[in-house]
Amino acid sequence: MTIATTSPVTGEVLKQFDELSPEELEDKLQRAAVAAASYRLTKHEQRAEWLSRAADVLEADSATVSELITTEIGKTLRSATDEVAKCVASLRFYAENGPRFLRDDEGAAAAAVGAQRTYVTRQPLGVVLAVMPWNFPLWQAMRFAAPALTAGNVGVLKHASNVPQTALYMEQLFREAGFPDDVFQTLLISSGRVEQVLRDGRVAAATLTGSEPAGRSVAAIAGDEIKRVVLELGGSDPFIVMPSTNLERAATVAVKARTLNNGQSCVNAKRFFVHADVYDAFLDLFTAKMGGLVVGDPMDDSTDIGPLATESGRDDVEAYVDDAVAKGATVVVGGKRPDGPGWFYPPTVITGVTGDMRMYGEEVFGPVAQVWPVASLQEAVDLANEHPYGLGSNLWTEDQSERDTFIRDIQSGMAFVNGNTSSYPEIPFGGIKRSGYGRELSDVGMREFMNAKTVWIGDPAR
Ligand code: NAP
Repeated sequence: MTIATTSPVTGEVLKQFDELSPEELEDKLQRAAVAAASYRLTKHEQRAEWLSRAADVLEADSATVSELITTEIGKTLRSATDEVAKCVASLRFYAENGPRFLRDDEGAAAAAVGAQRTYVTRQPLGVVLAVMPWNFPLWQAMRFAAPALTAGNVGVLKHASNVPQTALYMEQLFREAGFPDDVFQTLLISSGRVEQVLRDGRVAAATLTGSEPAGRSVAAIAGDEIKRVVLELGGSDPFIVMPSTNLERAATVAVKARTLNNGQSCVNAKRFFVHADVYDAFLDLFTAKMGGLVVGDPMDDSTDIGPLATESGRDDVEAYVDDAVAKGATVVVGGKRPDGPGWFYPPTVITGVTGDMRMYGEEVFGPVAQVWPVASLQEAVDLANEHPYGLGSNLWTEDQSERDTFIRDIQSGMAFVNGNTSSYPEIPFGGIKRSGYGRELSDVGMREFMNAKTVWIGDPAR
């Protein structure tokens, strides 16, 4: 795949980059290893200071970086600005909480194990490879980088081939913030060279956010090398609407949940299960709101949905919809690509999806919502759980027992009640089943790439 910025609005290649040569890649890996040896010894408070400075630098750069993100992937400028703000907040969160997260855990049972003292001390693993997707080009990379650098790890980023400028900005940001040289480096390489980097003895672990095939490949290599890996893969989150809820509010959030990031988020709600008692009313509200969204130039303030990020991405979405329609599904709104340049696709609502349609058990990465009537919460949960993915999930209800049943029975890494799944630096993020394993964010995510070393100290006199 060519490493280039290509405008999703016009299809024009705006800037192309050469891949690293074998010698350049070797040089960068060696630099990372050297940096790791000394960075692990830096004081937690010093790292917090650098993180805090990185937040200030990014905040000052917000306007240009947001524009860059919109240029590279076509998300609305409003949404890109929110993404940058989230990265700033995340850097500040780790700056404030990192030293506390990194404290040793004192063991209470020293006498029981014949020791004077026991404790667990957490130490960085070293160089961690991050393979990241384009859909939140800054946030995906930041939610790896901020906790990893807090922990004392060193990062090497292989970003998606269509966001090279955002990837290079990340490296520049940490340098400008004052982090020691080579603590965070961007590797402009194709996905075919990930194996070489992951097998390299200087690389201790990896994290991948992306598709199932990419995850499978990286997990297999990491397994072969016995290296720690975190996988954040696809999702087809359910959004369940029960009669007790405020339908107007649920429908408004449902639109946001499906169309955030032009419908290209792993935690977009993709399947809407609506109780039969309120199905018609919800469908009317939801359809009207989806149909009313403004599709257009992502730089324009009045635009709700920009183009999809890649031409092949739009082709995929179109193929899912065509397949469903050919097998008997009904398009209630949208479902037809507009004429003209750019990779636009309209907000689309589909009913009558059945198990033989491709979209039933896969992930549609664009603004296409399936709406299903269900007779009960149990039916909704059962249908939701049939999917191979288990990332986020959403329930709308005012009934406490429905809420408890949902939290207990839904097969997902995250359960959101009366809201839509989102990532926050303060709480863990991740999935189960084919959505991957491991967690990002909070102290839990930071500890994925740390050695929890058990220390036992005996009495020398005995
Ligand atoms: P993708 O094709 O898997 O690409 C993601 C990253 O993996 C890119 O850097 C890509 O490099 C690299 N890559 C691709 N194939 C690889 C392989 N065989 N070995 C090693 N690296 C490989 O995914 P995408 O289509 O860009 O992103 C969309 C997917 O990511 C969706 O399924 C979405 O749900 C998922 N996602 C998950 C989360 C989460 O947190 N769970 C968040 C966001 C997105 P190239 O660009 O050079 O191919």
